[in-house]
Amino acid sequence: MNTDYGDPLCNLCWEVIKEPYIVTSCNHAFCMKHESDPRIQQSTCPGCGSHLPSKSGMQVARFRVSKEDTRSLCGLHPDVVIELATKALDFWSMQERTRSDFFALKWSEAKKNKDEQKQSFKIAHEGLAQELLAERQRVQQADARGDELKQELQLLEDKYTEETRKHARTVPAYSHGRSCSALGVPAKLAVGSSRDVSLESGQ
Ligand SMILES: [Zn+2]
Ligand SMILES: [Zn+2]
Repeated sequence: MNTDYGDPLCNLCWEVIKEPYIVTSCNHAFCMKHESDPRIQQSTCPGCGSHLPSKSGMQVARFRVSKEDTRSLCGLHPDVVIELATKALDFWSMQERTRSDFFALKWSEAKKNKDEQKQSFKIAHEGLAQELLAERQRVQQADARGDELKQELQLLEDKYTEETRKHARTVPAYSHGRSCSALGVPAKLAVGSSRDVSLESGQ
């Protein structure tokens, strides 16, 4: 078979049709496996919804005729042969239109899906960008708070160092004062060195 027109596709499952197949008087073609389809059972074309004459509306067809079968054309009037040839050409013309409509539909569906995917990707991308921005702001705030805490800590350390220094100065004087009072020495006399005190206490 010359396939310049491409392999005919089933007008229901869109697979390459294999003979024998069902052909309708409205020039639609279906695989034999759809024979039990309720629409075909009720003589309604699944391709275009036409209600078909129950006898001539659907027929089993083949792509080829055997050499013996071609002889049956020999007795036909040329007008009948032309009529048959016209019907065969109408079938192919309809199949080409149907195939082109089918691929146009598939293409527009694919484009629509792609546009929808693009749109949802864009939305997801914008959402992520906002989350990223919010996260960066949180990091900046945390950094700023960290700096504040470092400064507060430094102030506390300075204060602690200062307090420790004061304490270090106060403790010897305090313990000196205590040892003097224990010995009955007035604290104001005890302003000398601790060595003096120990000498006094030794007497
Ligand atoms: Zn099919
Ligand atoms: Zn039809």
